Amino acid sequence: MSFSALGQFPACRPRRLRQWPALRGLVRETSLNAGQLVLPLFARPGRKIRQPVASMPGVFQLSPDEIVREAEKARQWGVPGVLLFGIPETKDEMASDAYARNGIVQQTVRLLKKHLPDCLVLTDVCLCEYMSHGHCGIVEKGKGGRVANDPTLALLARAALSHAEAGADIVAPSDMMDGRVAAIRQTLDRHGLADTPILSYAAKFASAYYGPFRDAAESAPRFGDRRGYQMDGANVLEALRETAMDLQEGADMVMVKPALAYLDVVHRVKTEFGRPTAAYAVSGEYSMIKAAAAKGWLDERAVTLESMFSMRRAGADFIVTYSAAEVARWLKEG
Ligand SMILES: [Zn+2]
Repeated sequence: MSFSALGQFPACRPRRLRQWPALRGLVRETSLNAGQLVLPLFARPGRKIRQPVASMPGVFQLSPDEIVREAEKARQWGVPGVLLFGIPETKDEMASDAYARNGIVQQTVRLLKKHLPDCLVLTDVCLCEYMSHGHCGIVEKGKGGRVANDPTLALLARAALSHAEAGADIVAPSDMMDGRVAAIRQTLDRHGLADTPILSYAAKFASAYYGPFRDAAESAPRFGDRRGYQMDGANVLEALRETAMDLQEGADMVMVKPALAYLDVVHRVKTEFGRPTAAYAVSGEYSMIKAAAAKGWLDERAVTLESMFSMRRAGADFIVTYSAAEVARWLKEG
């Protein structure tokens, strides 16, 4: 598009269209509504438990009954779905609770679908919360803590299957192992779950913005870091290659994580592939705004909404955010 051919000052005055709120609304290019938000929630065993996460004000580890309440509240504001993470009672070196029939996520899914059948239930599929060492896959003995790719795939597929069998509407693998989408797709299909969509964390970067999440999900690695499987933050072509592979393996939707520091990646993924694309506004993005707002340095509502708009403008069809319920309420209240 050649902008110079479209007119010049003084015939052209862009400020004419900024004079009144209603006019600004008419020509607004990007929309944001509650139906485009997904609320992540942390499930832990018990009843009536709401344990605050210190580094994420307003976020709690919740027992399944409280998850139902929280999802219901969010739905009243128009948020269509939740993304579940599990904090199991016990951890081991095979992440057994990740695929236990009565694991914490599986129980919570069943309870949610029983009480709120219309709530879209997405489940995060990973092993780190369930592994005693906190890594996202099986750690090979004697190889300096390297996470083994191929043996991990079977466990991820089992976890996704157990979530779908419990009633999860969408499974969302976040581990960044190569080939996990294909492994999950084949396993679901073999078990009569060909209609269960996969939202892949296609481009998940090794990010310091995940810091507060590790408190929330109690999933910090005991040794090393996740740079052997999560992506290098400097790479965008690799993000496109990762996305292409996930789509070829059967991903129905793709996600970029984190959001704010990777908006160019969101934009490239959306424009290159044109497939349903999500952005995950991660814990660090949330906590930075909360902390600055608590000090009176930023207007929480305005900054949060501005951030959400930036993700939509970059090309995200929907946004996973800890602020989902608040944002939905702000949008409704106007
Ligand atoms: Zn993980």
